[in-house]
Amino acid sequence: MKTLDNLQQFTPPVRTLMGPGPSDVSPRVLQAMARPTLGHLDPLFIDMMEEVKLLLQYAFQTQNTLTIPISGPGSAGMEACFVNLVEPGDKIIVCQNGVFGGRMKENVERSGGIPILIEDPWGTAIDLNKVETALKTHPDAKILAFVHAETSTGVRSDAQQLCKLAHNHHCLTIVDTVTSLGGIPVKVDDWQMDAVYSGTQKCLSCAPGLSPVTFSEQAIEKIKQRQQKVQSWFLDLNLVMGYWGTAAKRSYHHTAPINALYGLHEALLILKEEGLENSWQRHTQNYEALRIGIENLGLSFTVAEADRLPQLNAINVPEGVDEAQIRARLLNEYNLEIGAGLGSLAGKIWRIGLMGYASNLKNVSYCLKALANTLP
Ligand SMILES: *Cc1c(COP(=O)(O)O)cnc(C)c1O
Repeated sequence: MKTLDNLQQFTPPVRTLMGPGPSDVSPRVLQAMARPTLGHLDPLFIDMMEEVKLLLQYAFQTQNTLTIPISGPGSAGMEACFVNLVEPGDKIIVCQNGVFGGRMKENVERSGGIPILIEDPWGTAIDLNKVETALKTHPDAKILAFVHAETSTGVRSDAQQLCKLAHNHHCLTIVDTVTSLGGIPVKVDDWQMDAVYSGTQKCLSCAPGLSPVTFSEQAIEKIKQRQQKVQSWFLDLNLVMGYWGTAAKRSYHHTAPINALYGLHEALLILKEEGLENSWQRHTQNYEALRIGIENLGLSFTVAEADRLPQLNAINVPEGVDEAQIRARLLNEYNLEIGAGLGSLAGKIWRIGLMGYASNLKNVSYCLKALANTLP
């Protein structure tokens, strides 16, 4: 039994993380996070914050000046978008085709907004026609909110077309790119996305705990015109901007997670060195390798080929197989983590991630070999 007197240093085993996130963190990022902590208003740290903003603009493909990491996981970035943009009484069209769309609806309600829910079956992409009909039926809607890469099902929706539809109907967009950023194209300026949040632990090869966000001029305008204060003090962008805004006059808001930001800086440098396009291509190539192996094992994919995310693969559990037992064996015998299904797909699928640093051919063949040895 654990008592206070027999505790020792925690030494985690080295696992291969091929689930829905967190994914393997680059050793360079882990090293960066172990460097000496600076004061959060130290000029050298402020310099580094400016570089993080520049690198995030590259990752998001945007010139938006309000492009920063929120101090908190992807869910904090999600909440930051909703509490700042949604005012009480605002009608918000929310697309749901998996777990994370449901959380968006919850965020709308808690911000005092009125959600209009557009549902699609789990495992399919968001239906553009349904969204267009909803936009026509609700001309007073203020925002369209959707998940670009639904990690719970492995589905990619057409972010570019969804943003276009929204703008045609004078709506702003809130877009979840937690699993897409770095793995598939996310083009904030080209696609005219308004409030976009992501996470560090999926395709950015970084540790969990930070949430990159970016806001368009139109989004900032809506925030500035609010009649009521943002209900969350911590996530109120008007205040956060005083901290992350101009380097010359930075004012204390909260203490930034200094060492976590060293990690993000390094992860984004790695992304820049590789090149975004090359990173997207690598994710696609490794998916192709996995697909061939999965099919050779006699297994099938849950999602239609055109809607699949290369970085998150939903695989149907064969009839009569105890999916939890297979996952437990992979973890215990191979130090390999893959994900289970959620919600209506619980018990029916496995989720194999090929995200960021973990998206490589060595992991693909390791996972296929482990599955081949483990499946009945
Ligand atoms: C992982 C994930 C989140 C939440 O991120 P956390 O860092 O776990 O808070 C949100 N949306 C999607 C699509 C995700 O995959």
